[in-house]
Amino acid sequence: MSASLANPLNLLGMPRQRLARQFEQWGERGFRATQLVKWIHQRGETDFAAMTDLSKALRERLGELATITLPEIALERSAEDGTVKWVLRLADGNAIETVFIPEDDRGTLCISSQVGCALDCTFCSTAQQGFNRNLSAHEIIAQLWLANNRLPVPEGRSRAVTNVVFMGMGEPLANFDAVVDAIDLMLDDNGYGLSKRRVTLSTSGLVPALDRLGAVTDVALAVSLHAPTDELRNRLVPINRKYPIHALLDACRRYTRDGARHHRVTFEYVLLAGINDQPEHARQLIALLRDVPCKINLIPFNPFPGSPFVRPSMNAVRAFERLLDDAGFVTIIRRTRGDDIDAACGQLVGQVADRSGRGPRMIRLHAELPRPTGAPV
Ligand code: SAH
Repeated sequence: MSASLANPLNLLGMPRQRLARQFEQWGERGFRATQLVKWIHQRGETDFAAMTDLSKALRERLGELATITLPEIALERSAEDGTVKWVLRLADGNAIETVFIPEDDRGTLCISSQVGCALDCTFCSTAQQGFNRNLSAHEIIAQLWLANNRLPVPEGRSRAVTNVVFMGMGEPLANFDAVVDAIDLMLDDNGYGLSKRRVTLSTSGLVPALDRLGAVTDVALAVSLHAPTDELRNRLVPINRKYPIHALLDACRRYTRDGARHHRVTFEYVLLAGINDQPEHARQLIALLRDVPCKINLIPFNPFPGSPFVRPSMNAVRAFERLLDDAGFVTIIRRTRGDDIDAACGQLVGQVADRSGRGPRMIRLHAELPRPTGAPV
């Protein structure tokens, strides 16, 4: 990549090894990259002039050739329960969302990997916006940089964010290279130093890209399953028509089996009243996952305006959980957080001005789905 005054290179998203090669191309020593990565990602410095352990000549050179540029915060909202949500405005005017979810023993940051999403999952509000573009690595890592620099550091910790999940807008495996670069910085001891168990990539199941991921990294994996049969999953997660459940589960087995990985896959299952939350669905799920080392994350549906689905009652959610539990599965019901600030995925972007000039798309497939029981008519 070439850099000029008119189009300086943004170093924020560059993994250390690549930065070292870039430095060498500029005639500088490669190890300077380690210093720079520490300045940017550990100390939160974005001004080359302040990086006092680099020579003055190098600082000036960097100032001419490169930048460290972050998106603008268009909106920052804190909920009663400590959840914080940001809408970030990118240089081209697009907006993305990032959510911080504090718990007693950790702080989880939910980040976006794309502007919008192309996958069209019928219960997801990001899908309604359609797909706009991939985020670059600097736009992905900027979310972690900003959260760590905005949030107070809890006592006994060095940083607010201890865990990262790719569960915001977009399908991370559809933006492979940028996501892998951002993961590199998250895991780098000179960057964020997160352990691979504390970075979770969530995918709707792009099988070939999942195999590629397994070849280059071994972060924790979450898979958006949402249905125990192809017939139902085809309708909820349309990418299933291309990569059906058996192919997806085979890829999950490969991902967890390869190399030194011992962790299990987390299967995410959004519960939609009358659609996939019945006892027969639980029984089908048990049979399906019997021989896959996994955890199951039940997510009561988060409603959004215009969605055709209904969140099941807590009793129905618990009954579903009990069946899985009794069959020996580690099952977690995900609590809804930040309800008072619309913290659920995709719900805030619609509230800042839409500069893309495209309105939200209507939810399709509505007519194809059986009417949920208990749904308002
Ligand atoms: N594209 C990736 C990551 C983004 S979605 C994926 O599909 O995994 C992150 C999680 O939130 C997924 O499990 C997704 O299915 C779930 N989700 C999306 N919309 C939801 C809604 N309205 N209510 C509950 N969960 C939802």
